[in-house]
Amino acid sequence: MENLNTALQGWRQILGDDNVITHPERLDEAARATFATRRRIPAILRPGDRQQVSDSMRIASLHGISIYPISKGHNWGCGSRVPSGDDCVLLDLRRLNQIIDFSEELAYVTVEPGVTQQQLVDFLGAKQSRLMLSVTGAPPTASLRELRQRGVLRGGFTLFNDLRMFSIRQRFPWRLADGRAPLGDEQRRVMGKGLGGGRWFGEGALHSPSRAVGLAERKLVKRALAGKARKTLFMDAGKARWVKRLAPLLKRLSGHDMQAMLDLDYERNPQRGIPVTQPTKMAYWKKQTRPSSATVDLDPDRDRCGLIWCTPALPFTGEDVVRAVAIIENCLAAFGFDANIGLNFTSERIVEANVAIVYDRDHKGEDARAHNCHDMLLERLSLAGYLPSRLGIQSMSALPEAGDDSPGVLDDLKKLFDAEGILAPGRYQRLPESEIHGRG
Ligand SMILES: Cc1cc2nc3c(=O)[nH]c(=O)nc-3n(C[C@H](O)[C@H](O)[C@H](O)COP(=O)(O)OP(=O)(O)OC[C@H]3O[C@@H](n4cnc5c(N)ncnc54)[C@H](O)[C@@H]3O)c2cc1C
Repeated sequence: MENLNTALQGWRQILGDDNVITHPERLDEAARATFATRRRIPAILRPGDRQQVSDSMRIASLHGISIYPISKGHNWGCGSRVPSGDDCVLLDLRRLNQIIDFSEELAYVTVEPGVTQQQLVDFLGAKQSRLMLSVTGAPPTASLRELRQRGVLRGGFTLFNDLRMFSIRQRFPWRLADGRAPLGDEQRRVMGKGLGGGRWFGEGALHSPSRAVGLAERKLVKRALAGKARKTLFMDAGKARWVKRLAPLLKRLSGHDMQAMLDLDYERNPQRGIPVTQPTKMAYWKKQTRPSSATVDLDPDRDRCGLIWCTPALPFTGEDVVRAVAIIENCLAAFGFDANIGLNFTSERIVEANVAIVYDRDHKGEDARAHNCHDMLLERLSLAGYLPSRLGIQSMSALPEAGDDSPGVLDDLKKLFDAEGILAPGRYQRLPESEIHGRG
């Protein structure tokens, strides 16, 4: 405690009082995630440039205080801003939001950690760049992945099940479901009609170098999917213009909102390098009351949405995907949750599954049920050989023993850069709870 007080004085001198936060209400907010957590955060530091980051770290090192860096803190479903260890001072890097260097020719950009997906997309637009950002389903306010060249590389292919599709389009239909969750087969069939029926929906983008190549590629895709997909649909700028023109008439005649479908599937689709808020809405699936601010400013931590991700990596074979999906569906059904599944085909060898356990934190007992479901799922998938591609802060020690020297090698590497072990203790480290406490 004495160490912390002395460190706080030092941090206040270099960052100013406004950027060293110790107000209990603000600390409680920062310790809130989309699932129950019990981490204590003694302070939040908000450096404004590299020198301040460096000076803040020097003070932390001098006083042996653990630090947990975050960029935007929107890691919803994996722990939000909450550190993986107790008593870590949060190093909030969002004020470092400059785009420092950019090369169109070599297709790179140098950014500070607080630069968001939307900020970089706007920057590329202003430069009339041919590069596009490989955006994820994360919100426009989250930090970044990689840059790609338009017209050369392809976006990934994704498959979503019907429950994922419903959850990003609407809230849980409590009335249709008679107040009971999860959704049954008949309810899924009824709701699925609005999406053209079917249990799985695939989506990909062909970023072809010319129209002729694009048309030839469409034929290949169509041929490959013949007999496997019930319906294959291609959308491009020309078709989108037609749909837009016909949408008002169609809505009057059939009630079907083609414009909304176009927005979601084409106009504002992450596959086109456009960051969107729509996938974040799935966190609100089970909320029965709509927080008034949620339409403009989604914040699942504040709105007490329950969301826990489980993200097993699967070998890219039909047999493995079918087996893993069966494990996921059985486990979620056993705990009474909808098996909300996405499959990202990120390379020729690996499929990254992402399972969203979605619930309402305001329902008594749901936090514990969701937590138990996640742990059981992680265990069953790991036993089947499907290890997670990333972990939430609550499950950093949940992996099975490696059975080789890799943990020792990783520990040695970490010590090279972080001799005192003050940087994000417990993050991707298999440590007992007693050892992941910071020394604040
Ligand atoms: C609805 C939804 C859909 C998503 N879909 C996808 C998807 O399709 N594909 C995909 O890959 N991801 C997906 N994600 C995950 C998403 O990529 C992350 O949630 C997002 O990148 C978080 O960005 P952030 O800047 O808020 O991260 P933060 O919360 O700031 O950081 C995440 C973690 O990284 C570490 N960290 C952050 N910055 C630093 C730093 N400067 N130095 C050291 N450590 C640091 C911290 O431990 C932190 O807890 C999705 C998330 C949501 C909520």
